[in-house]
Amino acid sequence: MIPRLTSAQRASSLSEGFVQHLADSGFKGDIGQGAADRTVFATDNSIYQVEPAAILFPKDVDDLKRIARALARPEFSSVAITPRGGGTGTNGQSLTTGIVVDCSRHMNRILEIDPVRRVARVEAGVVKDQLNKALAPHGLFFAPELSTSNRATIGGMVSTDACGQGSCLYGKTSNHVLGLRVILTDGTDFSSRPVCREELRALQMRRDRIGDIHRTLARIAADDRDDIERIFPKLNRFMTGYDLAHLVRKDGGFDLNAVLCGSEGTLAMIAEAELNLLPLPAHAALVNIRYDNFNAALEDARNLVALNVASVETIDETVLRLAKGDIIWPRIAAFFPDDADGVANGINIAEILADTPQELAEKLSAVTAALKANPFPGRKGFTTTHGKAEIEAVWAMRKRAVGLLGNVEGPVRPVPFVEDTAVPPENLAAYIREFRALLDGENLTYGMFGHVDAGVLHVRPALDLTPPEHAALVRRISDGVVALTRKYGGVLWGEHGKGVRSEYVPEFFGPLYPRLQEIKAAFDPLGQLNPGKIVAAAGRALPKIDEIPLRGTIDRGIGDEIRAAFGNAAYCNGNGACFDFDADTLMCPSYKATRDRRFSPKGRASLMREWLRQLAEKGVDPRREATRRHPFGFAGRLWNSLNPANRNDFSHEVRAAMDTCLACKACAGQCPVKVSVPAFRAKFLALYYQRYLRPLKDPLVAAIETTLPVMARMRPFYNAVISSSPGQAAMRRAGLTALPVLPPLSARRALARQNMPVATPAELARLDAAALANTIVFVPDAFTEHFDPQVLLDAVEVARLLGFSPLIAPPLVNGKALHVHGYLRAFERAARRTAAALDRLAQAGATLVGIDPSMTLAFRSEYAGTGLRARILLPQEWLATVLDRLPSSTLHEQGSYRLMAHCTERTNAPAAIGQWQAVFKKLGVDLLVGETGCCGMAGTFGHEVRNRGISETLYGMSWQLALAATGAADMVMATGYSCRSQAKAIDGRRLPHPLQAIRAILQRNPGLPSRRDTTYDV
Ligand SMILES: Cc1cc2nc3c(=O)[nH]c(=O)nc-3n(C[C@H](O)[C@H](O)[C@H](O)COP(=O)(O)OP(=O)(O)OC[C@H]3O[C@@H](n4cnc5c(N)ncnc54)[C@H](O)[C@@H]3O)c2cc1C
Ligand code: SF4
Ligand code: SF4
Repeated sequence: MIPRLTSAQRASSLSEGFVQHLADSGFKGDIGQGAADRTVFATDNSIYQVEPAAILFPKDVDDLKRIARALARPEFSSVAITPRGGGTGTNGQSLTTGIVVDCSRHMNRILEIDPVRRVARVEAGVVKDQLNKALAPHGLFFAPELSTSNRATIGGMVSTDACGQGSCLYGKTSNHVLGLRVILTDGTDFSSRPVCREELRALQMRRDRIGDIHRTLARIAADDRDDIERIFPKLNRFMTGYDLAHLVRKDGGFDLNAVLCGSEGTLAMIAEAELNLLPLPAHAALVNIRYDNFNAALEDARNLVALNVASVETIDETVLRLAKGDIIWPRIAAFFPDDADGVANGINIAEILADTPQELAEKLSAVTAALKANPFPGRKGFTTTHGKAEIEAVWAMRKRAVGLLGNVEGPVRPVPFVEDTAVPPENLAAYIREFRALLDGENLTYGMFGHVDAGVLHVRPALDLTPPEHAALVRRISDGVVALTRKYGGVLWGEHGKGVRSEYVPEFFGPLYPRLQEIKAAFDPLGQLNPGKIVAAAGRALPKIDEIPLRGTIDRGIGDEIRAAFGNAAYCNGNGACFDFDADTLMCPSYKATRDRRFSPKGRASLMREWLRQLAEKGVDPRREATRRHPFGFAGRLWNSLNPANRNDFSHEVRAAMDTCLACKACAGQCPVKVSVPAFRAKFLALYYQRYLRPLKDPLVAAIETTLPVMARMRPFYNAVISSSPGQAAMRRAGLTALPVLPPLSARRALARQNMPVATPAELARLDAAALANTIVFVPDAFTEHFDPQVLLDAVEVARLLGFSPLIAPPLVNGKALHVHGYLRAFERAARRTAAALDRLAQAGATLVGIDPSMTLAFRSEYAGTGLRARILLPQEWLATVLDRLPSSTLHEQGSYRLMAHCTERTNAPAAIGQWQAVFKKLGVDLLVGETGCCGMAGTFGHEVRNRGISETLYGMSWQLALAATGAADMVMATGYSCRSQAKAIDGRRLPHPLQAIRAILQRNPGLPSRRDTTYDV
């Protein structure tokens, strides 16, 4: 049995006093002091791990002022805070042992969009893509781009002066900041915007902190003009933060925002930002150029930039190879074909923007003509990409580059610590040659990609930071890269900010460093804002890059085998792709519904990692524990559950985070590192419930597949009980919401009446080879079969209409519900039995086809290790292989056909949607695919009382809106049984399975040989 684990060390009494004071002074936001919150906020995307004392989630600017006023009290003068947004920093800039102020949970309102002035005012926690989604109807956008645009916040972007693809055209975030509302540590609420000389003079006259700040800055701007001119490089990526080079504007104005942008939370808390907007580029195209080596791609970049394209992005052979295995690849493969003389080992993607189609065509033909007319050594060929969806797919692949690099086996994985250098573009190829030699000299592997037009290349050497010798490489390589960037006239911080790498700030800023310290002192005299970043208080030193605890060092005790055994949890690198803000995307529903980072894949992986670490510290191997039998059984679990000494067991906090997971598997399919929460959650629950009692609903839900056939036999009784008030009350007491009634139709009985035999090896053995080739065995799951039997009957009918001989598999327990709830031994027994039965059918020569996507795909993931060899096809996988049997037709119908596909197939079966489209296309239908998030039901999740709120919230965020937008004449179909039952329960809408729509089309089609309409007796 796993032992009781200790929650993290309590925060210091000073922090606790600070937090208590805030609570007493009317702080309206949330306060997180528990071990789970502190564990989840201890990492960003960097190699470091630092546990904060507490996390504050302010509701609004007044809460920020309350925090600042508390900081100003003498008794809290040594309390430090660090503002935080999406937490996507790559160098620990939002990590602290002090108190985190997370502006992303609540302060995420878009306050104003003025399309005429092209200005938006937003709170600091607004996500960049959230803003652009709201701006799109106005034909506007916030231009600075970054790979983390679906989770990075405006506060974080301003504070790191973020930028990325397109920076040569659009500049950095600071180029688009019109004003900032900031809160200083004395509680001052100041709106910073560029001022003229007279206004500056008035500000300097003030006798408060604002006056100090302006006097200090005006003096430095005047006294140190020569050093500023000499030290700040004339690069697209100038030195971010404390940007003295742009403090005095060309028009003589004075812009405090230049200093605030990129200051990484060290000067003030940003509450709001007023942003300049640009018209959306009307038309775009991409030219994707292939090279036989990456150096050729880098060398050729300058030629591309000279063609006046909007941006040029580059990808090396390693990233390209990984992209080919990614879920996004099928959508873009055609743009990156393999050449007869070998695959490409480097790519440049040139972007072309224009206001009119004609202008686009002209620019595109000029670029392609130039490429053809001026061959370049190593350039293999190019393709072009048109159309919004296709272009977005190519950029999505590029944006996933960091994550893709992390998707490797084993403990040696790409890590960021020198990933963000910038040099003058003309030096890039030579610089990268030396950079590669440096890494090759250490025998390291690495992938490279970046903004080649701006001279920025992202490089993540692969290291395992658990052994000390690899940890030591961080210092050696960092020093080497710093020397190289200086040699080539570049900077260490291209766009990701400084954070822990501030150690090198004094070296780069030289004589200006003391001036930075004066600026810091003027804004934050007690050094309470994000200490240790960018600049240290006078007389103090900045921490060294190897003085901050490394995640690897903390993980050291866990051991490689256990790290690998728990669904990649230990390899989550914190890139935050699972924090996607958009309700219409799939990852991660529980985070979207709660905005609580504990309830995200990263949150759960972080907690799992800490749990494994604590077990390792106690010498416990969780794999061995899972196989042990425990003599005290129920009595022991009862005792553990009642014993007050167990109340603070850290495992409870882990379980609470696991409870809200829908097991939708979006993470398993879409996390670039393939962190699979359902995989490690099941293992965790199995161990947790060896120690503690399960809730009553668990055995009920786990047994559902075996009890359903029994219930079906006493259908009237079951229906009467679950429809009655006492029955429903009893269910609710057990933790389950209204369960569906069983329809009067029994699929098996209806099929038996048609003399359709059940598929058994003996039955199949009677068939000759031709008959077998024509046989389809449907493998229904218990839910579809019993609650939605017409779908199964329609599937059978589709097979018949296409000339196949359909059969139905005997009732088999799929076991997914057992797995989800962590009944792993029972699951393994059931799965082995089912796997053996399916293998016998497959060996007899039958084609096996499932109906429900999530249950069918369980045969490919949960069943790994059961020995199952048979492949159970999704319906569309089967139909896509027999397209020649489908009649070609052109339907003329009023409404459209829309598919609402299940999350698991969309994220875990990359070809699934394309296959449905191909099938419907053959039938003359242009299938529209709903871009929706999760429906919120996810198997039994939405049937549990404790989850119903989240379930309905999720449905309302995406599905409900999508369904409301469909017309009465539209055929809206859903593949998942869960999704259909959720739409029926909440909206009263009955959505057919696509097989049912296909049956209807086939029956209307006069071209078919066997046109008939089968009805079933019930
Ligand atoms: C996979 C990956 C790709 C990336 N690609 C890019 C890229 O293309 N371009 C790029 O520029 N960056 C990139 N980054 C880095 C990162 O996403 C950016 O720095 C981003 O701007 C950080 O935003 P955030 O909301 O996550 O901020 P956080 O990481 O939470 O914080 C960043 C800094 O901002 C400060 N801060 C946050 N909110 C406030 C506030 N309200 N007031 C004051 N200070 C605040 C924090 O204290 C911290 O110092 C990438 C990171 C990853 C993991
Ligand atoms: S779970 Fe995956 S997507 Fe989320 S932060 Fe970790 S590695 Fe990134
Ligand atoms: S399975 Fe779904 S709900 Fe659970 S962590 Fe993964 S994406 Fe989130």
